Amino acid sequence: MQNRCELIHAIKEELLPYGASLIAVSKTKPANDIEEVYKCGHHLFGENYVQELTQKYDALPHDIQWHFIGHLQTNKVKYIAPFITLIHSVDSIELLEAINKRGLHLKKVIDCLLQVYIAREETKFGFDTAELHEIMIKYTTHNYTNIRLRGFMGMATNTADMRVVRTEYEGLKKLFDEYVKTRNAINDFDTLSMGMTGDYKIALECGSTMVRIGSKIFGNRS
Ligand SMILES: *Cc1c(COP(=O)(O)O)cnc(C)c1O
Repeated sequence: MQNRCELIHAIKEELLPYGASLIAVSKTKPANDIEEVYKCGHHLFGENYVQELTQKYDALPHDIQWHFIGHLQTNKVKYIAPFITLIHSVDSIELLEAINKRGLHLKKVIDCLLQVYIAREETKFGFDTAELHEIMIKYTTHNYTNIRLRGFMGMATNTADMRVVRTEYEGLKKLFDEYVKTRNAINDFDTLSMGMTGDYKIALECGSTMVRIGSKIFGNRS
């Protein structure tokens, strides 16, 4: 296998022309693996499970920027809110409100993305276009003082048909651009999180600003 640092640098080279950033998705992988990548100078990691994340947070250097990318239950927000860099997976108004409330409590503004449902599968979390519109109105008219909405996150259908994936990513990019352009554009609305190991090149071509890559970096998960 290619040296891990070389691999990280090669991926970053690929992202450079797009100005996109890399989230190394380390779910289910031991702290040692993360440390190895950390020592290559990469400090952005993504995790899916609260308990796993808090354990790794305690065990690893505190200048790691942790991104939460999994389904988050409202009653678990409190465990990650003190240190999380960005929550990619806000998929309900209740969750948005719970994060805001926790932010108020901590006197901290928490960066969030709304997860948008773009795949054909039934099981994926996220807002559909109508719900997204509703929540965007709510966000711009209510005072979520302790949330900074940075953009959207999406997961494409898990398929080998890259035309399907491309169409889904293009659709999300179009939605994102519409909200970027709206007259009362939201401050700092600049992040479009899309692309994983199997499809990140397409995601970049479609306008991704942040890719979440796991198995390409850490190997397959068991
Ligand atoms: C696991 C996961 C990834 C990384 O997937 P790979 O195919 O291993 O790159 C990206 N995004 C989310 C939301 C995930 O759950």
